Amino acid sequence: MKACFSKSTFQIFTRVIGLGAAIAAPEKGGGQCVEGCPFFKELRLEPYSSRGKMIIARGLAEGVVKPSRELLNAVAACTTCGYCMYKCALQNVDVIIALRAELVRLGYTDPEHERAAKMIANFGNPYSKSLRRFLRLPRGGETLFFAGCSYAQYLPEKLDKIGEVLSRVGGVGWFGPDEPCCGNLLLASGQIDAFVTYGEQVLGKFKEAGVKRIVTACPGCHETFSKEYPKFFDFELEVEHLTRFLAGSVDEGRLLPRGLNARVAFHDPCHLARFSRIIDEPRFIIENVAGVVMVELKHNKLNTICCGGGGGAPIVHPRLTAKIADRRISEAIEADVEFLVTSCPLCEHMLSRSAKRMKTPIQILDIAELF
Ligand code: SF4
Repeated sequence: MKACFSKSTFQIFTRVIGLGAAIAAPEKGGGQCVEGCPFFKELRLEPYSSRGKMIIARGLAEGVVKPSRELLNAVAACTTCGYCMYKCALQNVDVIIALRAELVRLGYTDPEHERAAKMIANFGNPYSKSLRRFLRLPRGGETLFFAGCSYAQYLPEKLDKIGEVLSRVGGVGWFGPDEPCCGNLLLASGQIDAFVTYGEQVLGKFKEAGVKRIVTACPGCHETFSKEYPKFFDFELEVEHLTRFLAGSVDEGRLLPRGLNARVAFHDPCHLARFSRIIDEPRFIIENVAGVVMVELKHNKLNTICCGGGGGAPIVHPRLTAKIADRRISEAIEADVEFLVTSCPLCEHMLSRSAKRMKTPIQILDIAELF
């Protein structure tokens, strides 16, 4: 373990990223992060925006703001979509996670996040006692597919499809039904000590399996393993996202997309585009689909907008996050597409529910369903 955040997480973050500068931004005429923040768009309330959270963070650090349940509720209203960071060039998401960690340290944890943490500790996923993944792939190997818990929970049939496509490419195994969760929710909700304890167990499982490279289907798992694990642990595994793996397979002629005569757009998952910079690969795959007319949504690539599914926000703010998803589906309706392709279980879950709610025939496809 490289760092212990239990005593002074917040102070460490403030030192590392220069929180004073971040919070000075609004006084210097900043604020681009406010208008684009999906929560601010819905509520028009400053504490629910990124800038509001920066001000809360400073207030808490200086002792002029006292922790409370109300404060916790506002701080939980963030999907960690990174739009504010993209607009302001400050490490806003790191500050928000540090702020959540400080609230946890002070005894303020959202009960839903606490419940999810207990599920992860006891059952290896935040959803259910009996969650199991079933894939038609060989067990074990140096390159393993990491299915993640959200596909298994929300989209088991899409997981089947991913397994089938990977088996066509070959050379990829998987952990088996007891694959652990990456623990992203622990980190995103500020439960840092729990994340460190759990992450050590995950690393033990990787070691036991003799794995050298993992291919993740979920952008959250990808981000957690590739960017967060190395901050906390000695982590040397190669991490690749399924989208890049599939694009590489198409490029090498090992995989050919099926035909689809339709207007199609790609919804860039925030963590895939803004955090992992995987932007061209899904477009390369779609462009190789015979018959497709590809269009871009109003917000795309680095400027993508959130589906509402990340950062542990939907379990605290289900109605608000559903409205955030509806905003994204409205863009797909505006673009007059028949299929909205994406590459993230939470995006697919949030957007599918929104499409149903909005009574649009637009179908949400996983990138693997193009094969
Ligand atoms: S990360 Fe996204 S949801 Fe969170 S404050 Fe920034 S813009 Fe808002």
